[in-house]
Amino acid sequence: MRITVLAGGIGAARFLRGLLAHLHATVPGAEVTVVGNTGDDITLFGLHVSPDLDTVMYTLGGGIHPDQGWGRADETRAVQDELGAYGEPPDWFALGDKDIATHLVRTRMLREGATLSEATAALCARWQPGVTLLPMTDDPVTTRVDIEDPNGVLRTVHFQEYWVRLHAEPAALKIRFEGAEESRPAPGVLTAIAEADVIVFPPSNPVVSVGAILAVPGIRSAVAAATAPVVGVSPIIGGAPVRGMADKVLAAIGVETSAAAVALHYGPDLLDGWLVDTADAAAAETVAAAGIASRAVPLRMTDVDATAAMAAAALELVRRPEQ
Ligand code: GDP
Ligand code: CA
Repeated sequence: MRITVLAGGIGAARFLRGLLAHLHATVPGAEVTVVGNTGDDITLFGLHVSPDLDTVMYTLGGGIHPDQGWGRADETRAVQDELGAYGEPPDWFALGDKDIATHLVRTRMLREGATLSEATAALCARWQPGVTLLPMTDDPVTTRVDIEDPNGVLRTVHFQEYWVRLHAEPAALKIRFEGAEESRPAPGVLTAIAEADVIVFPPSNPVVSVGAILAVPGIRSAVAAATAPVVGVSPIIGGAPVRGMADKVLAAIGVETSAAAVALHYGPDLLDGWLVDTADAAAAETVAAAGIASRAVPLRMTDVDATAAMAAAALELVRRPEQ
């Protein structure tokens, strides 16, 4: 069985850990391809940082900081402290010492002419995440957010500045995927979608994670045209994101923060199935009425076993009799 997952960072990485645990126990030889969001990528001190790709790679490779859900375990920050002593901004984006090694390798390869796909494969050779991790594109795509600053002046900021420095406190007026229109899917992405047996939208941010991936020309139409069923897992439980500020970016695109509204936003053109939490059982009826199979099951990724059960329920929801 081939499974292709459109992934953001923490929500996706934790879900993938459960999906792999489920597959190892039940589906020998299953192959998982992860198409990762690179709209969050940022250049800091000349280093190319790919936060979502790294979160997936570290989580599945056993190097993630377990509580934070991003960055390396047992991390130190000597470099950033030294930079601070020089008065070098930014200090709002954490760059741990071990993490910097990853960005150095990636940046060195890119500077020598490698693609982001090639750099990602080289980094994964160390981490062995147990999936094929592909960036959504090798071209530069940058997620930017339009906000009004405290003086009422319209400003456009990098997504990381909005999310990490500003904690998504100003209302997001518009989300832009700069460069997306000219970007092409990375090698292997369209094939992984076309040849999948199941396509999964994990509980990732629908706007800035999955939305950014779908903004790369060709990816949305490939998902819509895929022969495989597409199943999603709601990142929204009881009208709020489980973690983070997804409500702020959903508001920017005029979508209510609810499990049903997110499913309808993707729509029956993309989705065949949508899991909601047991707290949102009523949403399952709304979603089913729109032509998307839906079921309410516990969706909190409290540990690997609970997450594996979620993944099993997602695959079961869209299982076709011949499989
Ligand atoms: P990011 O790039 O690190 O923000 O990560 P993603 O886009 O992959 O995932 C963020 C989403 O994960 C948020 O909208 C959260 O609501 C969702 N999320 C985090 N933990 C859980 C959980 O335990 N259950 C569910 N259903 N969603 C979760
Ligand atoms: Ca992200």
